[in-house]
Amino acid sequence: MTNPDLELLAALAVRRQHNLYRQRLTLESPQGACVRVADQPCINFASNDYLGLAAHPEVIAAFAEAARRWGVGSGASHLISGHCHEHQALEEELAAFTGRPRALLFSTGYMANLGVINALAGSGDLVVQDRLNHASLLDGGFLSRARFERYPHGDCETLATLLDLPGERRLLVTDGVFSMDGDLAPLPELVALADRHGAWLMVDDAHGFGVLGVHGGGSVEHFGLDIDQVPILMGTLGKAFGTFGAFVAGSEALIETLIQFARTYIYTTALPPAVATATRASLRLVRAEAWRREHLHRLIARFRAGAEAVGIPLLSSATPIQPVPIGDPARTLAIATRLREAGFLVGAIRPPTVPAGTARLRIALSAAHTEAQIDALLSALAAVWCAVSA
Ligand SMILES: *Cc1c(COP(=O)(O)O)cnc(C)c1O
Repeated sequence: MTNPDLELLAALAVRRQHNLYRQRLTLESPQGACVRVADQPCINFASNDYLGLAAHPEVIAAFAEAARRWGVGSGASHLISGHCHEHQALEEELAAFTGRPRALLFSTGYMANLGVINALAGSGDLVVQDRLNHASLLDGGFLSRARFERYPHGDCETLATLLDLPGERRLLVTDGVFSMDGDLAPLPELVALADRHGAWLMVDDAHGFGVLGVHGGGSVEHFGLDIDQVPILMGTLGKAFGTFGAFVAGSEALIETLIQFARTYIYTTALPPAVATATRASLRLVRAEAWRREHLHRLIARFRAGAEAVGIPLLSSATPIQPVPIGDPARTLAIATRLREAGFLVGAIRPPTVPAGTARLRIALSAAHTEAQIDALLSALAAVWCAVSA
C-alpha cells in the first residue's frame, strides 16, 4: 500500500525549514481586548473584532434567546426550507444600512466571493483584480472560466490597460480595505476606470464595514460614493459586526441573479437563525454607538504617533489594521513570540498570505482597547524591536 504520509511529511518539513509553518493557538476565553492563551493572559491585537462586539452582552443575549426560540440548526439551504424570518429581517436591515434595494446573506465571506464572481462571470468574460485582493476573491477569479488578470497593488495605469482587453462582461474586483496592509483601494479612481471601460465594480468591504465612515457604512461612505458607482458590494459579519457570515448588497436584479446562479448560496446550509438574530443586535450597536468608531480612530492615531516616536516602521494605514513591515519570516516570528511572552498577542503574517519578502506583524486595534493598552504594546514593541536584531 502507498503511504501518503511520507510525501506529506517531507513537504511539511520544507515549510518548517522556511519558517513558514503555521500553528494554531487555543484560546481559553472569549474574544476581547484580553484573552487567555495557554493559561497566560494576553492583550489581544490579533483579532478582527474591531468594534468589540464579538462578546458584547446584548449580542450574546440576542443569540441565546434566538437559540431558544428558533433552535440551533437551520435545517436546510435557503432555497429549500432553511430561510427563516430572522434571515429575512437581517437582509432587509442590511439593505437599509447600505442604502441598497436588496441584500443577500451568505454563510461566509469566502463563499460569497466565490459565488458572486462565478455567478456573474464565465467563459468569454473578463475579471480584473488587484494582486493583493483577499484569497477568496482571487480564487473566485481562478475558478471562473473568464479571462482572469491581476494588476500590481493600486496600479491604476496597468489596470486601465487590462480593462482594454476583450471580454463580453467585464468585472473589476477590489478589496475596500486591504486585509494585510490596511490601506484603502483608490475607489474614486476605480469607479472612473470601471465607468470608462464599461466594467462592473465589485467591492469587498470586509474590513471597512462598521469601521469607516461616520455611520460605519464602510469605504463607500468614506469616499462619499453613490450607490450605483459600486453596484456590487460585499461585506462580512465576522469582523466588525462580531458574529459570523457575510452579505452582498445591490439591486433587485443582482440579488435575484445570485439566488438563481450563485452555487455557494444555493448548495449550502443556511446560517443558524440565531446567528442572524445576533447580527441584528450587533447591527443596532454599529449604528447607535458611533463612539466605538470614534474611540477606535483615536487609538489608531495614538498608536501611529507612538510608533513613530520610538522608531517602529509602519505601513501607511488609516484603519485598525496596522502592519509592522519586517521582511524576514524568522525575525517576524521571533518578535511575535517575544511579544507573546510579554503578554501581547499579535499576528505574524508570512508568505504565502503576503508576497515573499514582506513578512510582517499585523497589529489589529479594536474599540475594546484602552489607551493604556496601546501604550503598553508600544513599550513592549520598542523593547523587543531592539532585542531581536535584524
Ligand atoms: C475575512 C475576509 C473574507 C472572508 O470572510 P469570511 O466570512 O471570514 O469567510 C473575505 N474578504 C476579505 C477582504 C476578508 O478580510
